[in-house]
Amino acid sequence: MDDPPGWIAEFTLTPRQFAAHLDAIVDSGRTPVTIGTLAGHLAGRTPLPSRPVLLTFDDGFADLPGRTAEALAERALPATAYLTTGAITPGGHSLLPPAPMMTLDQVPELERHGMEIGSHTVTHAQLDTLPARRLAEELRTSKTVLEDALGHAVPHLAYPHGYNSPRVRGMAARTGYETATAVRHALSSDRDERYRIARLIVRRSHTAADVEAWLAGLGARTAPYRDGPRTVAWRWYRRARAVVHGPEFAG
Ligand SMILES: [Zn+2]
Repeated sequence: MDDPPGWIAEFTLTPRQFAAHLDAIVDSGRTPVTIGTLAGHLAGRTPLPSRPVLLTFDDGFADLPGRTAEALAERALPATAYLTTGAITPGGHSLLPPAPMMTLDQVPELERHGMEIGSHTVTHAQLDTLPARRLAEELRTSKTVLEDALGHAVPHLAYPHGYNSPRVRGMAARTGYETATAVRHALSSDRDERYRIARLIVRRSHTAADVEAWLAGLGARTAPYRDGPRTVAWRWYRRARAVVHGPEFAG
């Protein structure tokens, strides 16, 4: 969007930048797949096409069924959308600061545009800081709401902010999710972990040349790899803060 709310501006592109990034993906000759195809590969059921790329869109902002879906459909690029159900349900609640959001009744429209739908929890909480009951509720209710809207199973999850832990990953599996995407600021690989698939975040400052480098397998490390001490220290700091302050949006 051209005029995003300040809190999300860092993670938005103008329509012109977005078009340039999508054109770079088309020109790369890579084959776009959805999370279902990657899941099939990681479970050993179906092979991936050679040189795949997976495009994901989190949260469910208002432009997603509009300009974003249209720009993808014009280029025949399938994608995956992870939706925060509390933010798109009338009368719902989420920790996302105010922004124009899409609505739950538009979810089937996304599928018709070639998007696969996954859950991004109910409130966008930092899952690794939640007590067990709230964690289970975030994972289960968002899944059910989307399944009711679509009339079929929704077996894929994206952790808000990418935050997860062994306990969160275990709960995701027990809730019936088949995959979960994290962030990790890394390229994924055909050996990646099913419950913390690596992603790269596109920021406002990223140029089409940056995207071309990623598409060539450059400019980021490749998952799986072990958490570094800073990631582990940051996780413990956020958990301690959640005990004192309660849930919050981490931006
Ligand atoms: Zn999010």
